[in-house]
Amino acid sequence: MAHEDRAFYDQLADRGVTRRDFLKFCGSVAAMLGLSEAMVPTVASAVEAAAASTLTPAVWLDGGLCTGCTESTAQGTTPDVAQIVLDILSMNYMETIMYATGDSAEAALKDTVEKFKGKFIMVYEGAVMTGFDGNALRVAGKPGLDQIREVAPNAAAIIAVGSCAVDGGWVKANPNPAGGMGIQEFLKQEKIETPVINLPTCPVNPEWIVAMVVDVLFLGKLASGQILKELDEFNRPKVIFGQTIHDNCPRRGHFENGEFVYEFGSPEEAKGYCLYAVGCKGPQTYTNCPIVRWNDKASWCVESGSPCIGCGDFNWVDQNAPFLNRFRQIGIGDYKQTGGYVPGNVAALAGGVVAGALVVHGLGMKAAGRIGEGPATEDMKDYDRKRMKKGGDK
Ligand code: SF4
Repeated sequence: MAHEDRAFYDQLADRGVTRRDFLKFCGSVAAMLGLSEAMVPTVASAVEAAAASTLTPAVWLDGGLCTGCTESTAQGTTPDVAQIVLDILSMNYMETIMYATGDSAEAALKDTVEKFKGKFIMVYEGAVMTGFDGNALRVAGKPGLDQIREVAPNAAAIIAVGSCAVDGGWVKANPNPAGGMGIQEFLKQEKIETPVINLPTCPVNPEWIVAMVVDVLFLGKLASGQILKELDEFNRPKVIFGQTIHDNCPRRGHFENGEFVYEFGSPEEAKGYCLYAVGCKGPQTYTNCPIVRWNDKASWCVESGSPCIGCGDFNWVDQNAPFLNRFRQIGIGDYKQTGGYVPGNVAALAGGVVAGALVVHGLGMKAAGRIGEGPATEDMKDYDRKRMKKGGDK
């Protein structure tokens, strides 16, 4: 074992992580990246090599946010291997948890951008706030948009963490007074071409960030440009966002048997039946939540009894609310106020964004229905018709 390897394993041991834990972790990263078991040693070597070389600089910028993704990433219950991998990044600027404040914090950001032009990773959390001429969010005495304009063009890549960074999330919900939008959309407007990797959901799963760091940095896919080929049309990694939650849900057997929860607090809920009838969006939401789970793999939404609310979907807040309804009522707030016209959604439809998402997710929802005479509903699929009757519950 090389000297550097020993140092790395000593570092792991200092934090209570055994070599076996580390290899297990590499196995789970490899699986998440769609790599075969034979690639586990390659993943392990890549992480070891990265730990032994110069730290990769990174900056974490905040838009309009609740800091939930920071919490999700920083608050592992133990200093697990994932956290150690993130420590291999030199996080030179992170507004929520950095020690420096004021001018010294801003100097750290400026320094990183100047010294590591084209070589640092920018993580973006929260929505880009374009409202009030960019003054809806001010950072360091100026519009937050200026910070993005200064940093983003110089980054090697941008990882958008959480649905607010990806498409505006909660912050962008109708009527969106602060002009929230996703970082990718904003960069397009600004003609900034830095590659963006989108990791939606609310909050983001830290294991996805780790997998992307290993994949794009340590395994070199960013440098080779390969990563861009492995993103879907929404710039999400296909390996993570390629299957529906429904595909991997442990309640799927109940769905197939027509065993549904129709009411919370019911005997059906106690039996752990399928949550489709109380609004579960698992069949149309593409993430691997049932496999990676949250909080050190303790649980995830459906496992803990909540229907999936589709937070991995694009424009999910407007599309999926009210979350516990089986059928969608799109842009209902605007719909009521303007007598049938839904400005945000119509604009998005015109741009093809929502339409694309709907087609991809197989919602079968008709745009005309959404802006017609009443709250639009998702078309019922054949299997729903057969199974949604309460009498089908055995
Ligand atoms: Fe599908 Fe949701 Fe039922 Fe799971 S709980 S089987 S994701 S509908």
